[in-house]
Amino acid sequence: MEKVKKIYLAEKEIPHQWYNIQADMPNPTLPPLHPGTMQPIGPQDLAPLFPMELIKQEVSQDRWVDIPDEVREVYKIWRPSPLYRAYGLEKLLGTNCKIYYKYEGNSPSGSHKPNTAVPQAYYNKMEGVKKISTETGAGQWGSALSFACQHFGIECEVYMVKISYNQKPYRKLLMNTWGATVIPSPSDKTNAGRKILEMNPNSNGSLGIAISEAVEVAATSENTKYALGSVLNHVLMHQTIIGLEAEKQFEMAGDFPDIVIAPFGGGSNFAGISFPFLRHNFTSGKKIRCIASEPASCPKLTKGQFRYDFGDTVGMTPLLPMFTLGHTFMPAPIHAGGLRYHGAGAIVSQLLKDKLIEAQAYQQKECFDAGVKFAKAEGILPAPEATHGIANVIREVSRAKEEGVSKTILFNLCGHGYFDMSAYQDYFDGKLVDHHFTDEELYANLKELNTPIPG
Ligand SMILES: *Cc1c(COP(=O)(O)O)cnc(C)c1O
Repeated sequence: MEKVKKIYLAEKEIPHQWYNIQADMPNPTLPPLHPGTMQPIGPQDLAPLFPMELIKQEVSQDRWVDIPDEVREVYKIWRPSPLYRAYGLEKLLGTNCKIYYKYEGNSPSGSHKPNTAVPQAYYNKMEGVKKISTETGAGQWGSALSFACQHFGIECEVYMVKISYNQKPYRKLLMNTWGATVIPSPSDKTNAGRKILEMNPNSNGSLGIAISEAVEVAATSENTKYALGSVLNHVLMHQTIIGLEAEKQFEMAGDFPDIVIAPFGGGSNFAGISFPFLRHNFTSGKKIRCIASEPASCPKLTKGQFRYDFGDTVGMTPLLPMFTLGHTFMPAPIHAGGLRYHGAGAIVSQLLKDKLIEAQAYQQKECFDAGVKFAKAEGILPAPEATHGIANVIREVSRAKEEGVSKTILFNLCGHGYFDMSAYQDYFDGKLVDHHFTDEELYANLKELNTPIPG
């Protein structure tokens, strides 16, 4: 029989609803707290930053949430995304495991991020918002939101972590092409940025700092809202389109995954591919292992603490219940910029605490080794973030071999790396270093936190 390399769905099979895991979680997430009063926040507290429809989605307990037709129309540019069988990688690894990957790099900006950027821009548009401010690390989220804002005629202002701004000029130009303004962060345009620069004029920036700047702009400007590319419940929900499509594709292939793997920054692509499968664990007794792959240099899931913490560095956001390294944690300047975030989303954190999902940490050299293997075997060059998932797949394949079993593994190839060639250059030139934090370094920031520890 002829082998099937990629499993395509027809356009009309793009799902009509997102999956909201909040309806099925054994233990609900704890509420976000107001940092002043330490009381749970209400919708009105978030209204300066987000349109009401997204605030509703944030707290919704409905299992299924309709995808607006206007959003589905834009999704058609790159969705449904293909599910590939990784015959090349299987052969290279000499495994009898079956490896599948869902490829999200075909989107306009090259990653899974437009899956949420488009609905976020849409709901802002519907509520009359004229401008959206945001942060970006590697540039993936900034480009996705620039594309989405351009589509709906909204102005977009992006605070880009300075180290990435300097390392990735083409990402900035892509955002400019879609009409966005890009500002290296920390900047002197905001109180938050000025405060950081005063303490450290040479600051490389961090996602947490850039969030502080973008939030400040939204909170203090007319008709301006803020958008976040990960972490929040509504963002994770928008990404479930990935796993819902994959579910249909596995049905077509007559197969089903034993293990689902995805790289982890704040949790959105991991949630996107894994939550629709976790649903089977909750509702029909399946035992699919869902594994988040994080960088060893920013190991909030494997080494962080479950407690309330801020989403940003300066401490402007509500307190969220999360696995965190402390909001002032400064990750080493590794090349997977999208994974350099101190915390994790509330839903994913609760699931990890309840041991319903797993996490593993990887050093960047092992990741780039895996990424180059993948490019040779499958052709597609993975984003540095995505290589964490591939390294994880390779370890699970070894484990299956040791145990003498064959597993069906699905992973999310959440983006391509064609804008990240300077990272690959550093790898080829032997310039990549692994970062081994001591526990003192890791916990220095947590020690200073005086936020509540739940339970
Ligand atoms: C943003 C990004 C990530 C990390 O964010 P998550 O919300 O955890 O998905 C991972 N990979 C790529 C390609 C990204 O753009």
